[in-house]
Amino acid sequence: MQGLGHATFILKHEAYKHLREKPEDRWAFCPSLDETYEVQFDLYRDAITATPGGRYLHVGGDEVSVGTCPRCQPIADREGKLALNLLWLKRVCAFAREHGRIPIFWDDMIFNHAGVYGTMHGERAGQDVAGIWEKGLPVLERLLPRFPKDCVYMRWNYGPAREEGNRRALDWYNQHGLAVMIATAAQCTSPLMPEEARPAAIESFTGLAAERGITGMLCTAWDDCSPHMETYWRGLCAAAEYGWSPAGRSLSEFEVAYLARTFGPEAKSATDLYRDLWESVRFWNRALVLDGDRERYRNLIDLPDASDPGAWSERHRDRIAIARAEIERARTRGERVAELLKESRRGRFQLEILGAINRFQAGPSRLLVALAAADASESVARKRGLEEVRAALAEHADAWGELRSSYGRSRILDYPGYVPDHYFHFASKRHDISFMITVEEALHPKVEAWLSESS
Ligand SMILES: [Zn+2]
Repeated sequence: MQGLGHATFILKHEAYKHLREKPEDRWAFCPSLDETYEVQFDLYRDAITATPGGRYLHVGGDEVSVGTCPRCQPIADREGKLALNLLWLKRVCAFAREHGRIPIFWDDMIFNHAGVYGTMHGERAGQDVAGIWEKGLPVLERLLPRFPKDCVYMRWNYGPAREEGNRRALDWYNQHGLAVMIATAAQCTSPLMPEEARPAAIESFTGLAAERGITGMLCTAWDDCSPHMETYWRGLCAAAEYGWSPAGRSLSEFEVAYLARTFGPEAKSATDLYRDLWESVRFWNRALVLDGDRERYRNLIDLPDASDPGAWSERHRDRIAIARAEIERARTRGERVAELLKESRRGRFQLEILGAINRFQAGPSRLLVALAAADASESVARKRGLEEVRAALAEHADAWGELRSSYGRSRILDYPGYVPDHYFHFASKRHDISFMITVEEALHPKVEAWLSESS
């Protein structure tokens, strides 16, 4: 359940606006208002009713900064911001216990307020982890008496998890007798499909947790960039694999087992399929923007100038070379997926989705190569290039239609009447899946205009 932060889906509504910590920000509830708990408990009751027989209630609590409203600020000034998170935690844990559930709490704000969070993800060279923890520990120990003792602290880390800070956090819980579970992720925030390295990240944290004697684990599956859920199975199966047998099969053995179990033994040799597609998707994500990626960019790619033929192709030489290779890669990969669809005895919907993604992600490459052809100085070649550009736009529309239709077999594509709660995550920018083509929506009309001028 989401709260104290991550609450845009509630706090976007007029009726709940007065519960915001900051009036202009839909993210967080104010922990000092009784009505915050009325709403939060109502949501918990829904969750409890929806999960009969469940032992736990995940109360949320992550990625939230409070302490700025007139009610909270004096507490934050006097006792520190972490005291506010713990005040909220105490009340929601009491609710969970009264309803027969063991509360689970995302723990990032604990280490964030203690100033040690930066040592727990992607250690930086030269970082003095021991020194940072020496400063942070007194903050943690001073507030230790306020940490609920019958709550499970969920140490979430979705990357490679053997960083010293992450190890220290698990040890700190163990030393103080606090219950801890780990959380890994089958999908974080990558668009179109989860990162290739999800199983490796999951294996690293489950292995570490087993060494530390931690017995609980959860595999999360985030929708922040909203890939199709069929692409999450590889990560979810890795969580099952390493949750049951942390020191079992190697990652390459897991890959073969996953393919055989998911699609049938005929698919055992397709061990490069996922990684290969993921690498192409990474190019798709940045192919048509000059800086950043689809989620965060300032400038779209420019278009060729007929009065200076060849200059555009020269300027984007590296990008065009990659695009040429990507078209070929998508073609051979498409054939492989088609073969697998013929041979495989199960997992066919996932293959259909992978095939649709493969075709769709090649769109930017096709457009780049076509634009390069239209950048020729010789008029016949140039005309042929312009035809290629038209074909690339048509192919994008077709591939997008195929992707939508494949997605639509298991997902509602549009939500009429939905009240937007747009914030920074990629998928939240739209209420339908068109957030994936915002770059094309911005660029293609410019290409169309350029085509009419060029013809
Ligand atoms: Zn407040």
